[in-house]
Amino acid sequence: MLAVTDLRIAYGKTEVVHGVSFDVAAGECIALIGANGAGKSTILKAICGLIPPSSGDIRFEGRSIGGLPGHAVARLGICMCPEGRQMFPEMTVLENLQLGAYRRRSEDISGTIDEVMTLFPRLRERASQLAGTLSGGEQEMVAIGRALMAKPRLCIFDEPSLGLAPKVVDEIEETLMKIKNLGVTILLVEQAVSMALRVADRAYVLEAGEVVASGTSQEISNDSRVQSAYLGG
Ligand code: ATP
Repeated sequence: MLAVTDLRIAYGKTEVVHGVSFDVAAGECIALIGANGAGKSTILKAICGLIPPSSGDIRFEGRSIGGLPGHAVARLGICMCPEGRQMFPEMTVLENLQLGAYRRRSEDISGTIDEVMTLFPRLRERASQLAGTLSGGEQEMVAIGRALMAKPRLCIFDEPSLGLAPKVVDEIEETLMKIKNLGVTILLVEQAVSMALRVADRAYVLEAGEVVASGTSQEISNDSRVQSAYLGG
C-alpha cells in the first residue's frame, strides 16, 4: 500500500533523513521506532504532504505522492493522527469528530460517528463537552476518532501515548489493537517501544535519520541492540 524508497528530507541545508526505505502492506500495522530526533515525525510529515522530500520516492497504491500538497494526500485516503492531538479546543467533541469527516461532507456520517463512539464510549458521554476541557487520554481518543471519521485507507499515528499515564497508555494499546482488527492499515510512530512492538506486525528502527534495523516485531524485540537501547534489557 505504501512504499517509501531512499527518502531524503532536509530543513534548509540540513538533511535530517538520509535515504530511508520501508513499506506497509494493506492490513498491516508497521511501527517506526527510535529516539527523539531520529526523524520519525519528519518522515510522517513528508508522507502527508506537509513538507517536501528532497529526493526519493513515496508511493501510495502504486502512485507517486512525494511532494503532493496535504489536502491532495488526504483525499487519497491517508489520514494522520498528529503528535500532541491538535484538536480544536473551543469546539465540542462531536464537532471535532465531524470535522474529521470533512472530505465526506456530502455523505451521511452518522453511522461512522456511532462506530467511533462505540469504540470510545467515553466520547459518547462527553459529546457536547468542549474538547479543550477533556483529560489528555480523552483528547487522544478524540484525535484517534477524528482520524477514523475520514474512513482512511492508511491511518498514521504519531506518538499516541505521548504524555499519558501508564494505565491510559494501556487503553491506547487496546484501542490500536481494535482498530487493527477492524482491518485498518496502520503506520505507527511511538517512543513507547514495547507497546508499539506488541501492536505492530513489523517494525523499523530509526537512528539519526537512517534505518538501522527492521524485521517482525518479534525479531526486533529479540534484537540485543533494541533491548539495550529501548527496552531496558
Ligand atoms: P521526536 O520523537 O522527538 O518527535 P522524531 O524522531 O520525530 O523525534 P523529528 O521531529 O522528525 O524527530 O526531528 C528530526 C530532526 O529534524 C531533529 O534533529 C530536529 O531538530 C530537526 N527538525 C525537526 N523539525 C524541524 C524544523 N521545522 N526545522 C529545522 N529542523 C527541524
